[in-house]
Amino acid sequence: MIDFSKFNSIFELTTYFNSEDKCKKAIFESRWTKDDIICPFCGEHHCTKRTDGRFHCKKCGSNFSVLVGTIFENTKISLRKWFIAMYLISCHKKGISSVQLATDIHVTQKTAWYILHKVRTLFKQDDDIVLSGVVECDEMYLGGRETNKHESKKTEKTQGRSTKTKTPIFGMTMVWREENVDFSTGEVKTEVNTYTVAKRVADTKAVTLMPIIERFIAEGSTIVTDELNAYSSINKEKYEHLFVRHGQKEFVVGGFSTNGIEGFWGHFKRMVFGTYHFVSKNYLDRYIDEAVYRYNTRKEGGAHRFNDLFHKALGTCYYKDVKIAA
Ligand SMILES: [Zn+2]
Repeated sequence: MIDFSKFNSIFELTTYFNSEDKCKKAIFESRWTKDDIICPFCGEHHCTKRTDGRFHCKKCGSNFSVLVGTIFENTKISLRKWFIAMYLISCHKKGISSVQLATDIHVTQKTAWYILHKVRTLFKQDDDIVLSGVVECDEMYLGGRETNKHESKKTEKTQGRSTKTKTPIFGMTMVWREENVDFSTGEVKTEVNTYTVAKRVADTKAVTLMPIIERFIAEGSTIVTDELNAYSSINKEKYEHLFVRHGQKEFVVGGFSTNGIEGFWGHFKRMVFGTYHFVSKNYLDRYIDEAVYRYNTRKEGGAHRFNDLFHKALGTCYYKDVKIAA
């Protein structure tokens, strides 16, 4: 099986994958072995190779290509372009726009948009994850600033945290520290690690946020928040709750802060405003998933992310999963 994390540049990637057959061979070797081809329809092992290059399942009678059940199924775009696109998406820390991707791989912007959204489905957050230890919670509002809008476009009574023109997003960042000893010098270095979960929410009322907190944060954890009223409803029997009073310019309490989750918001805004400029509300969940994935893997190199993305791409993904009805 090819180790995709070995490609440290576009040059190395395109030199290696210089034909469609090479790409198909890499997909084959990552999914199956010559002696064990598995049917993507029924899961039967030991399918046989046909003379036309496809495969046949004795059990369910299906014939299938190496691309069936992957993100590449039924694609009209060359696999080499897909591989380069996925590499670029992995390497650009703040993401890549459809305009830029279209130029880079020489496709129409519509095609680039489609590739980006299809790849974005691979970033889906793991909803079974449970955060524990110290978890910072915070909310942000995505949408136009009322103060910058023309008088005629202003929405009445929407100063501050209104959900009429802005979409609230709720984020939780687990923060833990690791001490690493440099054995040559004996020096101890503390590394701060984070893992973030973020979700679009209807509003930031306690009745909305508490079920999310209880779903994603293990009992016994310490929750750090700002002074938003809703957080006073955090169950004191389940969690220790610390809050920083941002209104009074207080940012650290007893060594705890909300710096981790604020780092995520900064990253999210740079991606949305710096790269995409505009995100449709219909697809906002995907952009949140993408930002979370990028933030959680930010210490890893682009090549590692590409390797991860490639293996995710071999799972089933159909067009209906990509297009959301508006
Ligand atoms: Zn089968």
